[in-house]
Amino acid sequence: MDAQATREIMWLIPFWMKVAMYACFVIASAIFAKGLFEKFKFVTQGKSFKEILPKKLNFENFFRTIFFQGKVTRDPFVGIYHSFLFYGFVTLFIATEFVGIHADTPFKIYKGPVYIIVSFLADVGGIFVLAGVALAYYRRYIKNPAYLTATKPNQEKFMYGMIIALVVIGYVLEGIRLWATGMTPMEQFYSPVGFVVAQLFGTFGLSEATWAGTYKVLWMVHMLNTMAFIVSLAYSKFFHIVALPLNALLTPYRRGAVLNPMDFANENAETFGLGKTSELTMKERLDTLACVECGRCTQVCPANLADKPLDPKLIITKMRDVLFHQSGNTTVGVTHATPAEGAATAVLGEDINLWDPLAIYASNELDSCTTCGACMEECPANIEHVQVIMDLKRYKALTLGDLPPAAADATNKIKKNGNPWGITQDDRFKWAEGMDVPVIEAGTSIPSAHLKRSS
Ligand code: SF4
Ligand code: SF4
Repeated sequence: MDAQATREIMWLIPFWMKVAMYACFVIASAIFAKGLFEKFKFVTQGKSFKEILPKKLNFENFFRTIFFQGKVTRDPFVGIYHSFLFYGFVTLFIATEFVGIHADTPFKIYKGPVYIIVSFLADVGGIFVLAGVALAYYRRYIKNPAYLTATKPNQEKFMYGMIIALVVIGYVLEGIRLWATGMTPMEQFYSPVGFVVAQLFGTFGLSEATWAGTYKVLWMVHMLNTMAFIVSLAYSKFFHIVALPLNALLTPYRRGAVLNPMDFANENAETFGLGKTSELTMKERLDTLACVECGRCTQVCPANLADKPLDPKLIITKMRDVLFHQSGNTTVGVTHATPAEGAATAVLGEDINLWDPLAIYASNELDSCTTCGACMEECPANIEHVQVIMDLKRYKALTLGDLPPAAADATNKIKKNGNPWGITQDDRFKWAEGMDVPVIEAGTSIPSAHLKRSS
């Protein structure tokens, strides 16, 4: 490999533009950090880590989510394009770091084999990212299955546009540089896409002033887009890059919808179950930030499939909307468009009663849950729907005394008649009328003919 291979960094960029870039980077990082801090406050609610962290952190789940896409690959199509996006972005990020280290530190590492390999992988990585965006867009907005409805589609489309612009402008900048600096030998192998763009650019026959001006303007746009991307990591759906690994880390080591036991022995308890937003755990609050609205929970929910009024995705997104509204802080807003019904009347900063008078969840919505746990099993964000649904139901049944109509009816009948169907003692054997069913009275035995038949 060519030990001298490298490229000029900050080609054509005057000192003041470089200073502007670092100033913008500091500002973007500060806004990003503010967004992170707001979300930290949103999740922890001023409690100490000791109070809210589980006894055992799930590092296995954490690393599986970060490096191997977690449960995302269970849907092969999604697995492919998400991998394209993830690994493509990782490659571009690494390449950017190499460039930065080479340009502004004494460590001149972006040369020789490192340059050749990183430059090639970055070029290919960009193509993977573009393919990933195209496939994601196709699935969400062209195929558009009902379970994939997004609460903020315009924000998502803006995010797609931002990614496309990052990659495409990067290629154009590379192409102009390669063409204007004389198409360095072997560059067609080190930077294949940039080389093709350079060939195309050469056909335009632009004057030096035009291509130099174009390069500087595009470089500025690229730089500002990069800064906007950094900021958006904390304020848009991109936040899942942070929230998902964290949620994976806090997910308990257990499978299925295992519910937390209730403490009936606590004589000081005024209520049971989940009645107010202040009673949500840190994990449950983080769950609302981690939801990417992929709809996989909805896709597998047997109640939803049977046309019951339950959509596990909405259980989470409605809770998120209420919490956002309660916080009154737009910086925690990830994907919500309009607050859940009732949330608009909530008082900012105050604890919100999840039942009366807001009625965020409908009774039959929660009552439709079979607690099968399929939603949790499939959720790539490790969100735990069932505990929230059951805690809401516990509050409804045990604190408000509001049972599902069928359950209330069955309970009353058991109390009155000793069976859930309300059949009186006198009528309890009516079902066998006209059938040759032996009746065993006290002190008698089963006729031998019947014993023979059943043996
Ligand atoms: S646990 Fe409830 S919400 Fe989740 S999939 Fe089963 S029925 Fe649906
Ligand atoms: S709760 Fe999980 S499975 Fe359901 S939409 Fe959100 S991220 Fe997807």
